[in-house]
Amino acid sequence: MNRADVIQLGYLVAAVLFILGLKGLAKPRTARRGNLLGASGMLGAVLVTLLDQAIVSYWVLIAGLAAGAVIGGTLAVKVQMTSMPELVALFNGFGGAASVLVATASFIKLTDLGITDEQVSVAASATALIGAVTLTGSIIAFFKLKESLKWSGFGGIRTVNAALAVAGIVLSILVVTDPTNTTWLWALVAVGAVLGVLAVVPIGGADMPVVIALLNSLSGLAASATGFVLDNTLLIIAGSLVGASGLILTQIMCVAMNRSALDVIFSDAPASSAVGIDADDVYAGKVTASSAEEVAMILDTASRVVIVPGYGLAVAQAQHAVREMTKALEENGTEVVFAIHPVAGRMPGHMNVLLAEAEIDYQKLIEMDEINPTFAQTDVAIVLGANDVVNPLAKTDPESPIAGMPILDVDLAQTVVVIKRSLSPGFAGIPNPLFAADNAVVLFGDGKRAVTDITKALGE
Ligand code: NDP
Repeated sequence: MNRADVIQLGYLVAAVLFILGLKGLAKPRTARRGNLLGASGMLGAVLVTLLDQAIVSYWVLIAGLAAGAVIGGTLAVKVQMTSMPELVALFNGFGGAASVLVATASFIKLTDLGITDEQVSVAASATALIGAVTLTGSIIAFFKLKESLKWSGFGGIRTVNAALAVAGIVLSILVVTDPTNTTWLWALVAVGAVLGVLAVVPIGGADMPVVIALLNSLSGLAASATGFVLDNTLLIIAGSLVGASGLILTQIMCVAMNRSALDVIFSDAPASSAVGIDADDVYAGKVTASSAEEVAMILDTASRVVIVPGYGLAVAQAQHAVREMTKALEENGTEVVFAIHPVAGRMPGHMNVLLAEAEIDYQKLIEMDEINPTFAQTDVAIVLGANDVVNPLAKTDPESPIAGMPILDVDLAQTVVVIKRSLSPGFAGIPNPLFAADNAVVLFGDGKRAVTDITKALGE
């Protein structure tokens, strides 16, 4: 077996490990093992790639590896758990950037050597466009998730985007028909970079989860296209797996949000900053504040309680406190389940991960479609740091940025206990009439503190 055969065999084993890893990740029980299998596959892939004779200098690789390890290690230690979604968005962007760099470098090297190949040109142009869109689109998504970018573009931005998309197609054709002129490729990268910014900027509110999933998919497609430039089968397979799973996730998010991907990308939906409902009109004199002791009394007589976690649970890191409260309620004979909205938090599966971390039984986590018909038979719904996913404006206000998004019907419960620090809005930036409903009380305070106080009061 020669060196090339060893590499191909290594790639085959790595590809199988990636597929088994993805399969494992589909279920919470096998997710850890799936993650380990995927990581082992990647380690194997990196090791056999080091055998490749095309490698010019191991020192450059070691320097890159060291720099990457220092940056990655520092981020892993320093970044708060609540900032993970932003970091994941940025990782998608880095994936796009890496693909652009590798594919353009290979393409330019080949054309310098006088080698032109149609497969390489088509793949390089696809990488340049998709990779650049992924990079800058992910950077904008990063700032949107950080809630530090409120700009939602300018009038006619969709027309500009359509023009940029056409320019991208024209430049791609030029790259393929005139590969020796590398200016076309650089122009394509520039157009992709601008398109990435302008395509993501107008998107906000309920549409962000769809964009994140789509950018994740695009990073995979860019990697796969790079695989065709390098003629590297593993990169093609790995990129396709990311691209396909990202597309499936996009579809799941679209169904969850009652939108189509095309609507999200091409409609002129208002972003959060464009919304005009006044919070004072919704809340003034109508919100009933409560205390931990009062909430404990309400819970004491409840036979069924549904806890609705949202992004605030992640901010407060209240998952362990919630487990303790659940235990106290169950010891009191109360049935406790959790209502999981598909876009609660800031990344797909965010609530599942947090509750799993606190070892809350996965069987207690009920998806939206299944739990909604049961709210009418629920004594108390505890809305813990959730806001947009329980906002009735999604059903009643067609102008709202979350219009049409299916919500958890907590208002049908006998009593709704809302736990949050203030009457500040959620990610979509709009008030929530639920907090002023007749059957709702609000326990103002940090989620962890409030839940701990309730548990204490239950014990007393
Ligand atoms: P929201 O962002 O709507 O609301 C979170 C609430 O948590 C806020 O009202 C905030 O109120 C409260 N909060 C924050 N910190 C604390 C704390 N320490 N203790 C108690 N409460 C706290 O969250 P949801 O989960 O309801 O909705 C998710 C939103 O994010 C949706 O709009 C979704 O589209 C969007 N999104 C989701 C993504 C995903 O993939 N899941 C990705 C990107 C966006 P206060 O400050 O008053 O405490």
